[in-house]
Parts: sequence; C-alpha cells; structure tokens
Amino acid sequence: MTVPSSSPLPRIVILATGGTIAGAADARSKGGYNAGAVPAETLMAAVPGATEIAGIAFETVAAIGSQDITDAVWHALAHRIAVLAAREDVDAILVTHGTDTMEETAYFLHLTLSTQKPVVMVGAMRPSTALSGDGPANLRAGLMVAAHPDSRGRGILVVLNDTIHGARDVTKTSTTQVETFQSPNLGPLGYVTANGVAFLRAPGARAALQLPPAPLPRVSILYAHAGMDALLVEAAIAAGARGVVLAGVGDGNAARPVLEALAEAARSGVAVVRASRCPLGPVLRNIEVSDDAAGFVAAGLHSPAKARVLLQVLLASGITAPDAIQAAFDRTE
Ligand code: GLU
Repeated sequence: MTVPSSSPLPRIVILATGGTIAGAADARSKGGYNAGAVPAETLMAAVPGATEIAGIAFETVAAIGSQDITDAVWHALAHRIAVLAAREDVDAILVTHGTDTMEETAYFLHLTLSTQKPVVMVGAMRPSTALSGDGPANLRAGLMVAAHPDSRGRGILVVLNDTIHGARDVTKTSTTQVETFQSPNLGPLGYVTANGVAFLRAPGARAALQLPPAPLPRVSILYAHAGMDALLVEAAIAAGARGVVLAGVGDGNAARPVLEALAEAARSGVAVVRASRCPLGPVLRNIEVSDDAAGFVAAGLHSPAKARVLLQVLLASGITAPDAIQAAFDRTE
C-alpha cells in the first residue's frame, strides 16, 4: 500500500469490506444484486473531486455482505487499522462496509482502537449500478469527514446521507431508506454540508479496552415477547454461551420464568445483561428488575446488538464479574 506521498492533501487509506456500496446488479431480478462485487477503486472513480479532497490508497480486507461479518474479519480490520494509523504517511482511514451490521463493526473498532486519527465508515443503501445510487455521495462525504481535522479523537464515525454518527449511538432503522442510520437517543454528532464538515457535539466516552484475542466468546441475544418461556435461555446456556443479552420488553424486562432462568445462569457464572427491544431510552438498574439480587447488568443506552459487542470484548479481556461489567457499561455512557 502506497499513499501518494507528494500530495499536500490528507493521505487516506480506504479499506474495503464489501456490502451494497460495492454491489452490482445481476440477472436475478430487478432489485437483486451481489454485495461486494465492485472494487473500491472502481467505486471511487465515480466520486467527483475525490482526488481534490485526499491522496487515496486502496486495500481490500473482505468482499462480503455484512450479514456474513465474523469476529475474524473484525480482528483483521482492527489490526490493519492500528498498523496504518501508526504510520506517519497515513492521516485517516475510511472503511467501506455493508449497512446491515455496520453499527456492530463500528462499535467493536470504537472499543478496541485507541488511535486519535479519524476512522470513518461508509456504506450505501443502493448498489453501485442503481439509478441514483447513494454510494458515491456517501464516499465523498466520508472522505470529507476523514480529511477534516475536527474528526480527530472522536472514535469511529459512521457517515451516510450527509450525517455523521458516533459508534455507540448509531443504528440502522430502515430496511430501505437512504436516511436509514439514526442515533435515536442523542442525535447525530454532525453533518456534511455544502460548506464542509460541521460537528454539533462530542461523542460519549470510550471504554479504553485492548483488542482482545480471537475468537470472541459466544454471547447470545434473546428477544423477549409476550408468552415467553425459559426455553431460549436454557438453549443458549446449553450451547456454551458465556454471556446472554436480553432484548427485554420495556425497561429490559421479561416474563418471570425467563428472569428466573437468567438469574440461575448468572449464579452459574454466565454474564447476563438486560437491554431493551425499545429503540429509545436507557435500561437502568433495579427499577422493575432487582439487578443487585439477581447479579444482572443494566445496559443503559446500549442497544442489544451494541451490548453484545461490548460484553464479548469484556469477557474476552477477562472482565467477567457483574460489577466490573456494569462499571464498563457505565463508563461508555
Ligand atoms: N446485506 C448487505 C450488507 O449489509 C447489503 C446491505 C447494505 O450494504 O446496505 O452488506
């Protein structure tokens, strides 16, 4: 990888992982396409003025739809970003990624990377061959954010639809719309406007964790619903889950048999985190459920998917006691 060194512009490495942004239509159907089929160089060729924003180099880490992302890909990506960020001839890193699990990859990188250099993730809702594909505009906006000095020290940023989101808060909210990414509780960190990049607020604190060894421990998410019984809790424990995240009803709640089975799991050393299937609001300790008595952790503003990522990293780092896990969740609020 050589970043053009004669460039007076910021030097940005684009790491491609796949997704719709690199999707090409095939003959299956009018709406069908293959994620990850188009290389990043080809995508960037469709971005007007890209070479006036930055000196750009390209690398491919993966070429997959992000539903197939694994912790092995997370590790490869985190390692590569850490190595690149340590180089004096690299000013920022831009990651292209499918939108489905972008928020999880973003949060994993946010928790485990400590670089102050901008690391920005972009994707697209429409494949590169679609009429009005949103990829080129998102790539351009992502480059502008990555090239901007105010983007330093903000952790991993997600940029789509001219909106800049923080890794802890961002979530995909729509299956189809280009404005799919939102930060429901706290709002976006900033915008890309006709005048440039404008930040509105600082991101939340980072938990300052190291990149843990692979593979990450199994942590299951259990989605609560009316009439739920303990079957899925028992199945998760039998499958060897070292942690369980409850996507609870309301304030991270669940039917009595579920809570009893989770308390039993917690007594046997399984980490149990209560999050909520509600898109807004925190899950707080000891409101409807007695976390102190049961040995549970309350997820605060973490969605179930984000809570799972944090819990995996904590368990892999040897942080297993409920009070230590709770402290780490609280530190990231
Ligand atoms: N499911 C694919 C992925 O997440 C395509 C969706 C997208 O990128 O928007 O990579």
